[in-house]
Amino acid sequence: MITIQLKPKKEDSILRFHPWIFSGAIAGISGKAQEGDLARIVDCNRDFLGIGHYQIGSIAVRIITFSDEDIDINFWKNKIRLAYLMRKRLGLVDSRPTNAYRLVHGEGDNLSGLVIDIYNSTAVIQAHSVGMHCVREFLAKIITEEIPNIKNVYYKSENTLPFKANLNFKDGYLIENQIDCIAKENDFLFNADWLAGQKTGFFIDQRENRSLLEHYAKNKDVLNMFCYTGGFSLYAMRGGAKSVHSVDSSERAIVLTDRNIELNFANDSRHTSFCQNAFNFLENIDGKYDLIVLDPPAFAKHRDALKNALQAYKRLNAKAFKQIKNGGIVFTFSCSQAVSKEQFRLAVFSAAAQSRRTVKILHQLSQAADHPVNIYHPEGEYLKGLVLYVE
Ligand code: SAH
Repeated sequence: MITIQLKPKKEDSILRFHPWIFSGAIAGISGKAQEGDLARIVDCNRDFLGIGHYQIGSIAVRIITFSDEDIDINFWKNKIRLAYLMRKRLGLVDSRPTNAYRLVHGEGDNLSGLVIDIYNSTAVIQAHSVGMHCVREFLAKIITEEIPNIKNVYYKSENTLPFKANLNFKDGYLIENQIDCIAKENDFLFNADWLAGQKTGFFIDQRENRSLLEHYAKNKDVLNMFCYTGGFSLYAMRGGAKSVHSVDSSERAIVLTDRNIELNFANDSRHTSFCQNAFNFLENIDGKYDLIVLDPPAFAKHRDALKNALQAYKRLNAKAFKQIKNGGIVFTFSCSQAVSKEQFRLAVFSAAAQSRRTVKILHQLSQAADHPVNIYHPEGEYLKGLVLYVE
């Protein structure tokens, strides 16, 4: 293990349990540091602060423990057990209606750099740091031993690991027994496409927000923009919507949406999907819809893109506000970590003002509970949503 000493006064955030150390805080590194190495962090007096994974970049260390302990198989076992116990207490484990949930949510589970999603009998591991990449085999073994009914572990990190690390690996199964890609969310069946889909295959973080939409859908003409796998559309259908239109610019997303609608509402003529760019589709929807979902991809992947992203949120929301029927409801989201709750709300506020409609906030939404925010790491609050009533 290498040792990293911090500059004077740079230990404050670590003493407040923030799990990142930025490269500018480092005074010196003992030993030949390689990306992914375990690093023991000490302050300027060489007092222990934590242990983390070293990486090359502006975030130089991701802390995985603030205790002076061995990082062995028992350490990882204990972390997975704690994460599992929390999901069990949330009622997500052994639940009859739902067998898709997030088992590990990075910093939210004190495992910076690691995401694990469960889809029925398959766990999908996604590493965001080389340190987590190095322990993937350990993790796969622990998951199948500790979590009942997990038969397969798929590793999907080609797009999330730093490309400069040059690791030369391919996504694939670490453990493969009996593959079943159909999972369940609140009694809906859906295809979890971890092989080719975005993220780990499905957006589990919207589960609770989709349930809220179901509650508002009765007799409504619903427009689900950026539908991806059609999650919100399924709930709108069950909620008794008059019609549901799903829009996405990706052909693959439309195939997934159609497949999921077919799985749950075969031959139901209320649903139509459109493979089209959202901004074009929204040119001409005046007075057609009473419920509109806007769940675009992260417009700002980095801080540099922030200004353009806020403009895009404003444009998008203004189009919905201007054209929604009187007494309509807009579910609007931002999943950009670089956009704060306040910035997003300001963009939506500007859009409302531009439309000159009366707009009231009914709900303020976030990610589902199995994507917890570590109180010491507010950056983890990435999904922001507003439900608005438009007169
Ligand atoms: N609401 C979805 C998740 C949306 S992910 C759910 O509940 O699962 C964002 C989606 O936006 C992706 O499927 C992507 O293909 C789509 N997308 C990106 N840019 C787009 C654009 N300009 N117009 C329409 N769809 C777009």
